[in-house]
Amino acid sequence: MRNRIEEAKQAVRNIPDFPIEGIQFKDLTTLMKSPQHLTTVSDALYEMYKEKGITKVVGIESRGFIFGAILAARLGAGFVPIRKPGKLPAEVISKTYDKEYGTDTIEIHRDAITNDDVVLIHDDLLATGGTILAALELVQSMKPRDVMINFVCGLSDLHGRDMLPKEIEVTTVFDF
Ligand code: AMP
Repeated sequence: MRNRIEEAKQAVRNIPDFPIEGIQFKDLTTLMKSPQHLTTVSDALYEMYKEKGITKVVGIESRGFIFGAILAARLGAGFVPIRKPGKLPAEVISKTYDKEYGTDTIEIHRDAITNDDVVLIHDDLLATGGTILAALELVQSMKPRDVMINFVCGLSDLHGRDMLPKEIEVTTVFDF
């Protein structure tokens, strides 16, 4: 499995200065278009979470929807989207935060999570950690039984992990 993950990591395309100068954008579409790498990452995520009792996977718009939904289906869990403002039709809770480039607001349906849920929040990439911290605060405000966090990949140099409470389990499939 470790070799397969390394090969999947090599398939990620780096785009310098996108969407603004100075950002090294990790383009996961080149990983996902490969059936082999798509399966590798899906399998790795399933192995990491199959015995954790996850009842809901929360995916962050939009790149967190892809593996988040695949993983939810494989775990037999539900899928909950965190979306940009104005997209969710029912009552929402919102959070505004800073990110690697600019600020942003995210929303979740107020009835998406219950006290019985064991939640895995998933996004494609951990950069500065601003997005995931905002998502964690949204999910925790609904008082689930437990919350874990996962990314396909992390950018170690940006130390996003340090933004998150130490007691929260945070994993990545691979890091740059
Ligand atoms: P952050 O809040 O800084 O951790 O940013 C994480 C979010 O922004 C994720 O949803 C990523 O999809 C996106 N993102 C931030 N920086 C990058 C990057 N260098 N390459 C690809 N995606 C990024």
